[in-house]
Amino acid sequence: MAAETVHENYSLGSLNTFGLPALARFFAAPDSEQALQALLCSELARRFPLMILGGGSNVILAGDFPGLVIQPAMKGIRCLETTEQHYRIEAAAGEVWHDFVQYTLAQGWYGLENLSLIPGSVGACPIQNIGAYGVEITDFFESLTAVEIKTGSLREFTHAECRFAYRDSVFKQELADRYIITRVRFRLLRKPAVRVAYGDIQKELADKGIDHPSPQQVADAVIAIRQRKLPSPAVIGNAGSFFKNPVVDRAQFLRLQEQHPAIVAYPQGEEMKLAAGWLIDQAGWKGRRMGPVGSYEKQALVLVNHGGARGADVLALAQAIQADVWQRFGVQLEMEPRVYGGAN
Ligand SMILES: Cc1cc2nc3c(=O)[nH]c(=O)nc-3n(C[C@H](O)[C@H](O)[C@H](O)COP(=O)(O)OP(=O)(O)OC[C@H]3O[C@@H](n4cnc5c(N)ncnc54)[C@H](O)[C@@H]3O)c2cc1C
Repeated sequence: MAAETVHENYSLGSLNTFGLPALARFFAAPDSEQALQALLCSELARRFPLMILGGGSNVILAGDFPGLVIQPAMKGIRCLETTEQHYRIEAAAGEVWHDFVQYTLAQGWYGLENLSLIPGSVGACPIQNIGAYGVEITDFFESLTAVEIKTGSLREFTHAECRFAYRDSVFKQELADRYIITRVRFRLLRKPAVRVAYGDIQKELADKGIDHPSPQQVADAVIAIRQRKLPSPAVIGNAGSFFKNPVVDRAQFLRLQEQHPAIVAYPQGEEMKLAAGWLIDQAGWKGRRMGPVGSYEKQALVLVNHGGARGADVLALAQAIQADVWQRFGVQLEMEPRVYGGAN
């Protein structure tokens, strides 16, 4: 990668959906695996801390980043193989996730329709096994290619090696900060098999008088629901769901249910997944402001930037909510976005 494509004191303000101000000491957006490998072998990458940035929709920038921010910018989508039931599709890390999903539907490659309108890049989708409306990446993921940060060498990861779980993968655990994902492969369906069990989707389709929806109609329903319920980062800064839904054992759930009969929860294997939004709402935070930040008026789980917020404002609000929910319910809320820069 040419030295002139590394920028200094580069503003990340427009590169994170919360709209938080922060400078990267160095910034580069390599558009090929070779450029990325060359960058990783450079003096700069060896001397300074690294941060990998996709679409910036699941990060909180708590302050300036004192090292090199790398934003993978590789593009390309191709069909690798057509089998009796599947299309094997490969997409480059720098593709915009929602555009990729819409492209697959237009080609007649099915399965990702419920994941429409999730912000971010293709390269980040395996990191937290993105999911919505009863579908997760793990359902259609095949494998990925990544560059090891330390050596610059390419490695392929199978589905099993990614160790997907609820909003989790090996890349958030022991391999965190060790690989940069450059290409992701999916096994998409030739024959539509829409998943419309979610009440919201059923209602949206019923309201439109659609009995046998096509994948595109399911995608359109998901887009309409999301546009109604979630704030668009283009209008009001946010990082989507701010906390993971906490998973508790059955005994704790039963105790909570006894005290709070209306508690919202879903089975998760042997355990129960509590609706974090319900807990935050019950604690009185829905729509409440704390300085320039607050909980979104239509969805307590989404924290928003009302204008001029800094990372510290967001973290102070998050901590206040966590402390309150802990005190009322004895449940620990874990933040979903990753915090970079500042004191963290
Ligand atoms: C309005 C809104 C709604 C959302 N709804 C959902 C939802 O329904 N379901 C859901 O699961 N998520 C949701 N999210 C969260 C977010 O969209 C996803 O987590 C998305 O995958 C993040 O992608 P990104 O490219 O923006 O990653 P970033 O926010 O840039 O990065 C997230 C993490 O991934 C790492 N990373 C990014 N790219 C790479 C790469 N190529 N290689 C290695 N590491 C990388 C970063 O270092 C960082 O740790 C929502 C966010 C918003 C703002």
